[in-house]
Amino acid sequence: MPNSYDPDQIIRPEILALSAYHVPPATGMIKLDAMENPYMLPTVLRDEIAQLVVNAPINRYPDASASSLKVSLRNALEIPDNMDVMLGNGSDEIIQIIALIVAKPDAVLMSVEPAFVMFRMIATFANLQYVGVPLKDDFTLDLDAMLSAIVKHKPAVIFLAYPNNPTGNLFDADAILKIIQVAPGIVVIDEAYHAFADTSLMDKLVQYPNLLLMRTLSKLGLAGLRLGLLVGRSEWLIQLEKMRLPYNVGIMTQLIAETVLSRTDVLLEQANIIKAERAKMYRRLAVLNGIQVFPSDANFILFRVYGASEVFEALKQRGILIKNLDGTHPLLVNCLRVTVGTPEENTQFCETLQTILSETV
Ligand code: PMP
Repeated sequence: MPNSYDPDQIIRPEILALSAYHVPPATGMIKLDAMENPYMLPTVLRDEIAQLVVNAPINRYPDASASSLKVSLRNALEIPDNMDVMLGNGSDEIIQIIALIVAKPDAVLMSVEPAFVMFRMIATFANLQYVGVPLKDDFTLDLDAMLSAIVKHKPAVIFLAYPNNPTGNLFDADAILKIIQVAPGIVVIDEAYHAFADTSLMDKLVQYPNLLLMRTLSKLGLAGLRLGLLVGRSEWLIQLEKMRLPYNVGIMTQLIAETVLSRTDVLLEQANIIKAERAKMYRRLAVLNGIQVFPSDANFILFRVYGASEVFEALKQRGILIKNLDGTHPLLVNCLRVTVGTPEENTQFCETLQTILSETV
């Protein structure tokens, strides 16, 4: 046995070349970087959850099919009866399961650019070729470019977030439907931010045999639980289920999610407050000198500001953490993304930003 091992010799080169998904430390900061819901659940609901924790049989494996939770999800999210549901440890895991089942040699995973970074990363994990079709300058879909890229690369799977992260906009639904019609493989519509948009493609599942739809509870106030779901026809979900690791959704996630879903009114009320705050924040940012702010249908706002990296650092120094996108894609030059927080957090963010801007001119 050799007495030293060299990971560089053993590990796949494309993994060696990757940087791990970076989660910056945020202790003590106003955390507006990760699209979390800033609100806790009401005390009554938290007390109910405490009782669930006390009584949960954590010595046993969880229900592998999470059947009771699936019934709650079906009701709460109005999932069509003729569609199947698969659960994931967050929707990240579902993206990975989908990538793994299509990963034949040379298979292509396609998305747009800029898009959610995990589409590209997971393509690499699964040994898929990644093709990212640039959006137009205004972050709308470039339908012609998409259609020709589809003809050229014949993607096994296309991921489109609706609304898109990090840009916050909804793509044109007719353009998406055209893409679904032309695609030779699966099209996954990722509706992670559905709660903050007023539209969904859920009702198109019946019509399009290659369409799958993904949701998550993360942005609704349950990011810490890790629960994502995929809705689609059984032909696909039977195959995907083979790749899902047993017990990927733990007992606490199952119990707590089910309890919280019995109070969707609470979640929706919080989402509505966030939407109202988003509108306020948009108006405040729009009047600041030197800021270009982009409309959003999600719980975050993208904006462009001269010297974005310095502004980002200055905010961080003053205890406010947002996301710096400058340098991640040519369309995102000088762009920063801020999650909509509580009214107090948003005010503090806007005021601090204004101060920083007035100091730098
Ligand atoms: N899809 C999109 C578009 C996202 O922005 C995110 C989170 N940033 C996810 C999926 C992953 O969400 P989760 O794994 O928490 O369900």
